[in-house]
Amino acid sequence: MDATQRGSTGAEAMMINDDQAWEAVMRRDRAFDGQFVTGVFSTGIYCRPSCAARHPARKNVRFFASGAEARAEGLRACKRCLPDDVSRDEAAVLSAIDEIKTSQGQPVLGDLAKLVGYSPAHFQRVFKRSTGLSPAAYARALREERARDALSHEDRVTDAIYEAGFENPSRFYDNMEGKLGMTASAWRDGGRGVTISYAVTKTSLGPMLVAATEKGVCRLSFSEDRAELERRFPNAELAEGGEEFRALLSEVIAAVEKPGDARHIPLDVQGTAFQEAVWQELRKIPPGETRSYAEIAAAAGNPKAVRAAGSANGANTVAVLIPCHRVVRSDGSLGGYAYGTEIKEELLKREST
Ligand SMILES: [Zn+2]
Repeated sequence: MDATQRGSTGAEAMMINDDQAWEAVMRRDRAFDGQFVTGVFSTGIYCRPSCAARHPARKNVRFFASGAEARAEGLRACKRCLPDDVSRDEAAVLSAIDEIKTSQGQPVLGDLAKLVGYSPAHFQRVFKRSTGLSPAAYARALREERARDALSHEDRVTDAIYEAGFENPSRFYDNMEGKLGMTASAWRDGGRGVTISYAVTKTSLGPMLVAATEKGVCRLSFSEDRAELERRFPNAELAEGGEEFRALLSEVIAAVEKPGDARHIPLDVQGTAFQEAVWQELRKIPPGETRSYAEIAAAAGNPKAVRAAGSANGANTVAVLIPCHRVVRSDGSLGGYAYGTEIKEELLKREST
């Protein structure tokens, strides 16, 4: 077969050639699930394009427009990715999303699974594979999104918060914290339309994840991998490596291995006005020096907001480049660090010499 047909309705059929199909398989691109199946003749099974199993050798693969065509060639459906369930899965996810959107409270996984006729554990996986989020996280993200939308329309913040379905304002702020890291418009839809290049690279501080949009670095962290990006930016295109990204990456590695002034490296982060003020102040702390949370709060324009300064510090999505490790307790003790105090200690040690 030279090509497979996209979609089940002939009217919008679009041709996918074998090279494109193979590339989709290599990327485990979920967007192609349901558009063709991958027949693997060495194992006698067929998979959806996004199957998480190890990739077969290209020479053993043929593509089919449907599971039925693959079965006609004597292949069996993969038990891991269940390629014949794509449309059933899609329908189940859509009706669960519908339920989440229309229900007043917060529907629990068990109820949603029952509604669509899946076991809870299986439905959790299906839902996550499709949306990048668990149903609970999806419901939470939806409420946050509604709160943001309402905030732009409502005069009174508390009205907006109740309108979005939060029980009380403090829960709203708990939920909003630590969720930022992209421009608001992209964040609103989980990064849809945004391409994020990333790499996980070895450093002397352990494995480091660096991710960037075309505007700048949007995530720098330790001991995290692609799964964390999928969680934070479920609708973004994730691309490993890339030529321009490599140049940026080497600068970032240099800034981590020999910490100094990294302010020339572009960032793509967005927080609340106060968080951004805090992050700006953090970037002004010269290497080799530290500040207390109280000093940062004052510098960011609100001396009383010491706790909020601490939260903004913790909500930093770009470690090292926004040097939250340069903030210590007022008594001079080290204080916490998202990736462990050992890394914080080591960064400060390198900067002081
Ligand atoms: Zn499979």
